Amino acid sequence: MAVTWNNEMRSTRVLVIGAGFAGLGMAARLQRAGIRDFVVLEKAGDLGGTWRDNTYPGCACDIPSVLYSYSFARGDGWSDARARQPEILDYLRTLGSGFADRIEFGAEVVRGEWDEGAARWTVVTADGRAFEAQFLVAATGALHLPKRPRIVGVDSFAGPVVHTADWDERIDLDGKRVAVIGTGASAAQLIPEIVERAGAVDVYQRTPAWVLPPLGTRPPRLPRLARIGWYWRAEATAPAFAGSTVASALMHRRAVRHLHAQVADPELRRALTPDHRIGCKRIIRSDNYFPALASGSTRVVTTAVGHVTPTGIVTADGVTRPADVLVYATGFRVAGSLAALPLTGRGGTTLQQRWMSGGVRTHHGITVAGMPNLFLLSGPNTGLGHNSVVFMIESQIRYVLDAIRALDRVGAAALDVREEVQEAVDAGVQQRLRRAVWSTGGCGSWYLDGRGRNHALWPGFSWKYRLRTRRVRLRDHHLIGASAGAFRSGQSPQRPLVLDGVRQTQR
Ligand code: NAP
Repeated sequence: MAVTWNNEMRSTRVLVIGAGFAGLGMAARLQRAGIRDFVVLEKAGDLGGTWRDNTYPGCACDIPSVLYSYSFARGDGWSDARARQPEILDYLRTLGSGFADRIEFGAEVVRGEWDEGAARWTVVTADGRAFEAQFLVAATGALHLPKRPRIVGVDSFAGPVVHTADWDERIDLDGKRVAVIGTGASAAQLIPEIVERAGAVDVYQRTPAWVLPPLGTRPPRLPRLARIGWYWRAEATAPAFAGSTVASALMHRRAVRHLHAQVADPELRRALTPDHRIGCKRIIRSDNYFPALASGSTRVVTTAVGHVTPTGIVTADGVTRPADVLVYATGFRVAGSLAALPLTGRGGTTLQQRWMSGGVRTHHGITVAGMPNLFLLSGPNTGLGHNSVVFMIESQIRYVLDAIRALDRVGAAALDVREEVQEAVDAGVQQRLRRAVWSTGGCGSWYLDGRGRNHALWPGFSWKYRLRTRRVRLRDHHLIGASAGAFRSGQSPQRPLVLDGVRQTQR
């Protein structure tokens, strides 16, 4: 995209892309560490990321709320055992209020280039704002591009069509016939909320999900202690995902018991029993999803959706089911969302080119060889199936801070992880993933890319990830720019800069 740069270049020490959970955490932690010279770029007009976008009825975190905050900004006062979306968004607003003046809204990054001579990133937004920074932190998240499968005839549907991640609260559901397509985590939260209001709900299920009872039923009286307790309780389930057949069998038994306890009808039970191994797809934690599916006003349709007419859905067997509202609970387009970041590193090679030719490779999911001083939050292979992802993000935030401090200590401007170190670390992760349930459990999911490689999840205990990312090992990196004095103060030397072929002089 040709972008004209219409403003002065703004110089900062750390540029964070994204004001969602991860980006706000990064900024808050920088501030706490005394690094106030940062700017957060947010493409939308408000902060909150996925917790701003997802406002569908029932949207909540599905792990105990006490685990769903940063240790340096604990949200102990949650009103619910599993906080609902508005409360989580409030938490993020509070986090962001400490540096509101440094968040730039409507700032969609359209280009970022590593300037080897200056050892800095230059970044341009769609509206022509330009920034340069020593460190670039990409906290853009993976779940922000709603997936809307193209279903023949959907454009002819007379009623509202809405995606869970793009909810419109003005849609009237009272007494309506609602068709929900998809049975993932979002659908499992939405359906129990709407069955009471809607006249009838048809749930179009392609693959049933394993469901376990929720963790935590009411807010704990001692949140600090509960945080530790829940963390280790969740952590104890990691082996069931990593390949332990005994742990997996125990978890399977609990899920089957849960299904039998909540669904009396054997035919419905059969329809709701997955044929993949538990954990292969994201496990749903709920005690009101099955009762909602078993209620008289809900029908679980297991025949594939064929096409849509103005007044309903026709399944592959030719049966038409009338509908007034159509809800896509079909998840997100995950593959390639990070690679699509328009960032160009050393040698003029973009992140996309790097990953297209060599596959997605990172060092701990945080840094990428050839992309100096670029740090990813929630990057490849850092998601979790068994515990709070906030713990992983916090590990990454600590790593970024350690990198900044380490460079300051040795007086260098930038680090670039050595290709061979990245290769070895990544190979270890991929090797462990081959034994894990996501590859062996007999299912497809958004965790796997087109070639069946898992670039989404971390295979094992999250505390091991924390240990591995505890310190930046400078010897594993190429160091760039020996005199870092100028960078330390946030100033950059007077020098010319070329953007879009126009020579500009920086302040
Ligand atoms: P999802 O897990 O990807 O589920 C999408 C559902 O839509 C699946 O049942 C899928 O079926 C179905 N589907 C997709 N394309 C379809 C098509 N063309 N025809 C028919 N069915 C189709 O999406 P999600 O439920 O939005 O959850 C996504 C992620 O968001 C979760 O994994 C989780 O990480 C996060 N999330 C978290 C929470 C929380 O509580 N913290 C809540 C909601 C979401 P198949 O399984 O057959 O593909």
